[in-house]
Amino acid sequence: MTKQLFIAIAIIFSLLAMNCQGHGVLPASESMDQKRLIQFPDTKAYKTLILDPHTHSTFSDGHVWPTIRIAEALKDGLDAIAITEHLEWQPHLADIPHQDRNRSYNIAVDANGTNELMVISGAEITRNAPAGHINALFLQDANLLFKDELLTASLEICAAFYAEKSQILRLEISNHSDADFQPQNKSQYTFTDSTDFLSIKPHGTRTIGVKTGNRVKQISLQFEVLNALVKPKQTAQLTLSSRVESRD
Ligand SMILES: [Zn+2]
Repeated sequence: MTKQLFIAIAIIFSLLAMNCQGHGVLPASESMDQKRLIQFPDTKAYKTLILDPHTHSTFSDGHVWPTIRIAEALKDGLDAIAITEHLEWQPHLADIPHQDRNRSYNIAVDANGTNELMVISGAEITRNAPAGHINALFLQDANLLFKDELLTASLEICAAFYAEKSQILRLEISNHSDADFQPQNKSQYTFTDSTDFLSIKPHGTRTIGVKTGNRVKQISLQFEVLNALVKPKQTAQLTLSSRVESRD
């Protein structure tokens, strides 16, 4: 198998082409611009690919249609470009209403046509953690990220039990991600440590006591996750459920 060295060059395209292209497939004559060409040589052991792994269009906070991103990439002689629209940030939503988070990528693929440029499906995920902006690449369906799949995979009740005749339900909630999640209790139950606000550290586990009154065999808690957005200004809702065991 041929070894390949991917050199990622993040480029912020701040200058917009004045002679904008029409929408749709770019002409086959769309060619490299010798003045813009970005070049790195192959090594003896590796083939070097030039790629832009982080781009935006008007489908998030960019200022041009995805077609322009492809035209720029072709002019720059890139081998690959990733379309990484923000999942949660769409300042042009009033002018470009859309639900499909793959739309920008699909327009870019159509614009690329039969050119050799590789167009990669991506998304930029925003979290209120030290690594607050994360680009996911090689997605099969960006809509799955948008539907809280990542959140429900990250937080989990790993133990739920009553101990020693207690009426207080002990819950251990684990965080399987690198984000510091901040769920706020929106359920009918109150917690013993008198706050409804939890902070669950990356790869950490938080134990809470839930006042259920009578013992229950199944628990379902609703949370608003204060630092996870599903669209601009709308926080994620999360339900955590588990069977309850008795440890008397
Ligand atoms: Zn970005």
